[in-house]
Amino acid sequence: MSERMKIPLVDLKANYLSIKGEIDSAIRGVIDDTAFIMGGYVENFERNFANFCGAKHAIGCASGTAALHLALLAAGIGRNDEVITVPNTFIATAECITYVGAKIKFVDVTPETLLIDTDKIEPAVTPQTKAIIVVHLYGQTPDMERIKEIADEHDLVLIEDAAQAHAATFKEHQPGYYGNVATFSFFPAKNLGCFGDGGAVVTNDDDIAEKGRLLVNHGRKTKYEHIVEGFNYRLDALQAAILDAKLPHLNEWTRLRREHAKFYNDNLPPEVRLPFEASNCKHVYYMYVIRTERRDALMDHLKERGVSCGIHYPIPLHLQPAYAYMGHGQGDFPAAEKATKGILSIPIYPEMTREQSQYVIESIKQFFG
Ligand SMILES: *Cc1c(COP(=O)(O)O)cnc(C)c1O
Repeated sequence: MSERMKIPLVDLKANYLSIKGEIDSAIRGVIDDTAFIMGGYVENFERNFANFCGAKHAIGCASGTAALHLALLAAGIGRNDEVITVPNTFIATAECITYVGAKIKFVDVTPETLLIDTDKIEPAVTPQTKAIIVVHLYGQTPDMERIKEIADEHDLVLIEDAAQAHAATFKEHQPGYYGNVATFSFFPAKNLGCFGDGGAVVTNDDDIAEKGRLLVNHGRKTKYEHIVEGFNYRLDALQAAILDAKLPHLNEWTRLRREHAKFYNDNLPPEVRLPFEASNCKHVYYMYVIRTERRDALMDHLKERGVSCGIHYPIPLHLQPAYAYMGHGQGDFPAAEKATKGILSIPIYPEMTREQSQYVIESIKQFFG
């Protein structure tokens, strides 16, 4: 066994250093221009990110959470509407349903992918159901073609929470193609991350784009002409400039993530269950999530060996105190509940070296003996 190493779950410093010159000069440019709010830096990034996604519009905003809130509002979801989503996601997905006065309706996931179980969507639809938020958990999409069929059949708005899925595809199409609207987060640890909070709404729908653009900046048409009440949900120009410097590298970073995932797939011991990758999907491995019934003990062992791990997420939303009012209990969403006990996210990031992934694999093999 090799000497003890220290391996983070994600290495933001290594990522910065890999393109330090480009980032530093992007930041310098914004400061030299003292152009901090809206303007050219934000517009450039919006255009480049829309092009990258293969979509007509991208609206930069303050976070992935703000993007979800804007998407629901721009799509006309409001009071007493029901919105279907999954319980095994970050709370932001559900919070924004409440922000607009709508009701959360959870649907379980499939044990294999941990993504929404398409067979469970239709039974959950009622006359009040107005939208579905699918979550591209860990960087992989569910069967978007099937879900779009269901959404069309029941006249539901289809929203893609792509906070973890920049550059992911279903049948070659990125988020925003099947959905009426897709939302992204640029939280620093996400596959495309800025140096603080940031997000984007991506859509091919002109009406959603126009409403989103108004709402993101106080309902402004001109400086002091407000068409509607909106929000201060703007993306900072500094963040936009940083994102624009990083965007040209995203395809290469995604390729590296997938290469590291393949190395794990080929070399992890048979005792761990590997992440599932559907053949028509391009998984972008925001997280590489293994499963084992001995999860807690494995996690302790890896920590001792200097390998950082995470659990995404340890408590499904329907069992969170914040949602106690919904009256759910253990057993309501068995696949999501079972997953929380076995999942373990192990280090994956573009700059990871072969020596580091080898060490993670060795440490896991050592645990199983
Ligand atoms: C990160 C994340 C969000 C929220 O994004 P923020 O930028 O942190 O507001 C929403 N949904 C999912 C699935 C996420 O992973």
